Amino acid sequence: MPRHIVCLTFDFDAISGFISRGQTSPSWISRGEFGPKAGAPRLIALFRKYGIRTTWFVPGHTIETYPRESEAVLAAGHEIAHHGWTHRPPTTMTRDEEEEELVRGNESIVKLTGRKARGYRSPTWDLTPHSVELFLKHGFVYDSSLMGDDYLPYHARQGDAIELLKPAVFGRETPLVEMPIHWCVDDSPHFEFVRTETTVRQGLMNATGVLENWVNDFLYMREHCEWGVLTYTCHPFIIGRGHRMMMLEKLIRACADNGAVFMAMEDAVAEFRERMTKGSDEER
Ligand SMILES: [Zn+2]
Repeated sequence: MPRHIVCLTFDFDAISGFISRGQTSPSWISRGEFGPKAGAPRLIALFRKYGIRTTWFVPGHTIETYPRESEAVLAAGHEIAHHGWTHRPPTTMTRDEEEEELVRGNESIVKLTGRKARGYRSPTWDLTPHSVELFLKHGFVYDSSLMGDDYLPYHARQGDAIELLKPAVFGRETPLVEMPIHWCVDDSPHFEFVRTETTVRQGLMNATGVLENWVNDFLYMREHCEWGVLTYTCHPFIIGRGHRMMMLEKLIRACADNGAVFMAMEDAVAEFRERMTKGSDEER
């Protein structure tokens, strides 16, 4: 029987993303502040209306700075997963610093939820050659930072040897489940206007056009996959604006009308692992 899962995921960066880029003026901070203040309560209410459980990747900085708002996400039944303590990309850190971030982020999550995170998503979606090994060492079940597939979770590799003048040699598959993501189903590149001294990212796309793309990604999965998971990535400070909230609700309805099963990422991972086990049993 075909089954098409949708994971709605939220990177609850609040002000941590701006701080990690050195953007600490009151104006930058206010941009991030919109997330916990206005965006998150709207999202929580929307998912209550449709009875949908979602996944929130929450930096430790957000948990410690906005404890009440983080608690509200948990109290509404959503999964809390790891997104660093600061919002620094792992690729800017040494192996020891990367591990410290994992440990400190988990300490904040344990304080909030009573247990360590099962899932991790890298700020900026850039992992280091150490990341997978560290995830396994610290008990993570899944990561959601790579783009090697769209509808099918897979097992993350460790130990790839990638050198400019040689053919790539791929490392071994690990037990870590990868829940793939992509910029095309992420609200940030479509919507967030960012101007720095040297760059402008226009963003501010018409939400109806983005909705059409996002619904079509679901319809393609429905047409071509017997079983699959489609992950959408949003940020409360970006998706929480009026016209984008309307788009998100239309997305939920369009997917639901076409048979989508909405679930938190940890539950989709569990279903994937169960299918893999059954599949290998059947092969015997
Ligand atoms: Zn983030």
